[in-house]
Amino acid sequence: LIDQGLVQTLLQITPPKVRPKLTRVSYIIVDQGKVGEELARLAKRHGVRQIALLEALQGYTLPVETIELCKSTGASNEALRRLEAKGLVRIEEREVRRDPLAGHTFAANPTLKLTPAQEAALRQIVDLLAAGQSGKERPAALLLHGATGSGKTEVYLQALARVLAAGLQAIILVPEIALTPQTIARFAGRFPGRVAVLHSRLTPGQRFDEWRRIRDGLADIVVGSRSAIFAPLPRLGLIVLDEEHEWTYKQSDATPRYHAREVALQLAKLTGAAVVLGSATPDVTTTWQAQQGAIHLAELPERVVGRRPAGDSQAAGELPPVEIVDMRAELRAGNRSIFSRSLRAALTDVLAAREQAILFLNRRGSASFVLCRDCGQTIQCSRCAVSLSYHEGENVLICHHCNRRRPVPQQCPNCWSKRIRYFGLGTEKVEDEMRMLFPQSRLLRWDRDVTGRQGAHEAILETFASHQADVLIGTQMVAKGLDLPLVTLVGVISADTALHLPDLRAGERTFQLLTQVAGRAGRSERGGRAIIQTYSPEHYAIQSAATHDYHGFYAQEIAFRQSLGYPPFRQLARLVYTHSSADKAEAEAARLTAQLQQAATQAGLAETEVIGPAPAFLPRLQGVYRWQITILAPDVHPLLAPLSLPAGWSLDIDPVTLL
Ligand code: ADP
Ligand code: ZN
Ligand code: ZN
Repeated sequence: LIDQGLVQTLLQITPPKVRPKLTRVSYIIVDQGKVGEELARLAKRHGVRQIALLEALQGYTLPVETIELCKSTGASNEALRRLEAKGLVRIEEREVRRDPLAGHTFAANPTLKLTPAQEAALRQIVDLLAAGQSGKERPAALLLHGATGSGKTEVYLQALARVLAAGLQAIILVPEIALTPQTIARFAGRFPGRVAVLHSRLTPGQRFDEWRRIRDGLADIVVGSRSAIFAPLPRLGLIVLDEEHEWTYKQSDATPRYHAREVALQLAKLTGAAVVLGSATPDVTTTWQAQQGAIHLAELPERVVGRRPAGDSQAAGELPPVEIVDMRAELRAGNRSIFSRSLRAALTDVLAAREQAILFLNRRGSASFVLCRDCGQTIQCSRCAVSLSYHEGENVLICHHCNRRRPVPQQCPNCWSKRIRYFGLGTEKVEDEMRMLFPQSRLLRWDRDVTGRQGAHEAILETFASHQADVLIGTQMVAKGLDLPLVTLVGVISADTALHLPDLRAGERTFQLLTQVAGRAGRSERGGRAIIQTYSPEHYAIQSAATHDYHGFYAQEIAFRQSLGYPPFRQLARLVYTHSSADKAEAEAARLTAQLQQAATQAGLAETEVIGPAPAFLPRLQGVYRWQITILAPDVHPLLAPLSLPAGWSLDIDPVTLL
């Protein structure tokens, strides 16, 4: 169905460089009697080495690696060759599988009795499977919406059992960062020997071997990250995208700029496979499609985990309480620290109880917007409703979508305060202040700078998991994949850094991040809580995250999108131009913008907007200048298809970010 060469490229398999791994094996090719005769003969001639070899080989039912055999017997290769020459033993080259799961044993993972909501979701998946296999109607996808811990994975597992029983196979996609040994263990423990894994930490040899094993029909379940959607399963019956809202499902940084969700839906059309999109915070577009009836919806409203000891005031299965701290009030009360009084008190309690805390900071929070410390006002673009970004060099505020510019105000336009300044925070600053406030605490910092090295990620996690540190300070990486019983407090240092990114999805991203971060705290028997610090406590993304109210968030967000014709109401495309000369970059971006605007007018394309050009959010990256054009249209293809782009341009249709 799909060009295998392209698939190999997408899976980063490069056949000329990677070959099957061969090893020399040996085994006996004659019967017991012949071996006995030879042993007797050798005994007379003191052929101890050959005797040792023969006796060792008798102990194996399968061919044994020659190197191992010689090592364990102390015999030489030559002695083995002599046995071969006598026609007793055969030595040959065999392929050995480079198994990424080698050496792991997986605890059995017994099937659970489903709750009624899980049961209903499973039935919907089974219906999709049946519809797909009947061939009459190609099934639509199912959105499985349920909080973390609501039992989605158990539904996937039981759907998988049905798929395998029907002689079909499945792909389970999870975000790269969530592809931990624990995740793999849940699938491999339920379906031993039938799981293949595909992710970026495999060696080329492992990836090559897994890919061939899948192609040859030797694995029925592929668990992997984004590119595993191209796994060549011959009898595909089910595709699951867990955490379907994750940005990383889109390959944004290289061509082809595919989204694994789109590929999954296309594959489903071609093969009749069912698609399940799981999330605690589905993409607004996915929920919108479910509301339009374009895809099915199943909801798991209750959390199965998070049970607390009897007698505790917090009800079983409840999500952790989230407190929003108004940082404007902190300032009014004379607290100029990064830490609110509330967060400080909570940290004191956690440390006293010998529990653990995670402090979370948005990665891209560096000094990019101005904020009034007294009323929380930020300066937004009147056209695009995104925050203007502060550019230190020119001392100006710029809209990264439409290039509207404003001088930096000296006073807040809302409350006339003079405390309007650009806002920046880094993990190091948090660490410094933490050290000052809690000199006894053992701190661990986890961000890009620290985790560049191979294995550093696991090492930090291990240090924290084994309670060699009390507080983990990190960027969004800490939001995922961690399931630590001692973590009873999660503090969000500033929700504003995510909220005021110049991207039309900043609200959605903030909601997703905060929901995820807050979910970290409630995973333990000890319960837990989350504290979110912000200068915008009334923003719906923050309010809804604090009350675990997806539907409340969705209602406001979809209204915002509709009012400006943002996705899903129009399609979005982004063109980025890079050049080493600042002038050339700007001029070329202006030229193409004019050309596109003219083309849109001439073709009479309704509701089509060509916005920009504007410097990209990162206007200069690795020595080149970056400009972008944003296009919004009911369908961007009539405008873009006839276009031939000069070198230096890159096009992203349905980009997941404008940053
Ligand atoms: P999610 O994928 O939504 O985060 P999981 O499937 O991982 O949820 O379930 C969370 C926890 O609850 C797991 O420990 C799982 O074993 C348990 N669990 C799930 N479904 C059930 C069930 N029907 N009965 C008992 N425990 C369950
Ligand atoms: Zn103000
Ligand atoms: Zn603008």
